[in-house]
Amino acid sequence: MYLFKKVSDLQHYLKLAGSGVQNLGFVPTMGALHEGHLSLIRLSKTINSHTVCSIFVNPTQFNEKGDLALYPRTPGKDIELLEKVGCEVLFLPEVEEVYPPEVQTKLEFDFKGLDKVMEGTFRPGHFNGVAQVVKRLLDIVQPDRLYMGQKDFQQFTIIEQMIRQLHLPVELVMGETLREADGLALSSRNLRLSPEHRQLAPKIYETLKEVLEWRKKYTPVEVQKNAMQALDIPGFKPEYFEIVNRNNLLPIQGWENLDQAVVCTAVWAGNVRLIDNLLLNQ
Ligand code: AMP
Repeated sequence: MYLFKKVSDLQHYLKLAGSGVQNLGFVPTMGALHEGHLSLIRLSKTINSHTVCSIFVNPTQFNEKGDLALYPRTPGKDIELLEKVGCEVLFLPEVEEVYPPEVQTKLEFDFKGLDKVMEGTFRPGHFNGVAQVVKRLLDIVQPDRLYMGQKDFQQFTIIEQMIRQLHLPVELVMGETLREADGLALSSRNLRLSPEHRQLAPKIYETLKEVLEWRKKYTPVEVQKNAMQALDIPGFKPEYFEIVNRNNLLPIQGWENLDQAVVCTAVWAGNVRLIDNLLLNQ
């Protein structure tokens, strides 16, 4: 695997490799890699001749400085895992490389309200930062396909919107959420859970799945209430539990269009904020 820290070196390589690169897949990450990230790389490798993974803990998407400081960083292990899955290229830039003062990298987006609900309510400015870094990385890497996880469903929807709005020449591909055996969605943040909170954490996915039963008896609003109550246990603090239309992320009123519905939730387990979601078309 090639490792580049400089934009110019990465671009030089991609130009030279050019004729050998039939298709370029790109998997942006913030590192502390786990099987979820690796599944996106494997997915990219099924169809692209080359896959670039980036590891960059993007400061502009953190609305709390403490969260940024505590974000796990495991570069040595990440490199080993990427080698193992056969990733061709790792891009591992410093902040100044992604946001050089002389390059205009600040962007303001209008996501038509997609960024104002759920995560957006609790993390103001977060999605602008996410879109800013994804746009910058797409400009640098110029891939044919961009791979992102269903795990961050709202993020996926917003990047889909950005690609549409800016007419970016890239195909966005969704990878399914990988989970621990007990149902907890894999996340770099899981590393920070205390043993007690780790034990409680599967309750999040269990509650998401309860919706499949509750929906037979209750309205979406009632299900939301039930779920918030079920998650309001010692050690947990649920922030939201929303049943929304997957296209506009607005609450659904009834159960008619199940194939369009997604349930999204964010829960504090101790001092670690976990998110998860479930598509109801299953
Ligand atoms: P992150 O490093 O958390 O920014 O995530 C990088 C990419 O991996 C994003 O597209 C995430 O949606 C995706 N991802 C994170 N967790 C998982 C998971 N458990 N399964 C599949 N993809 C994931």
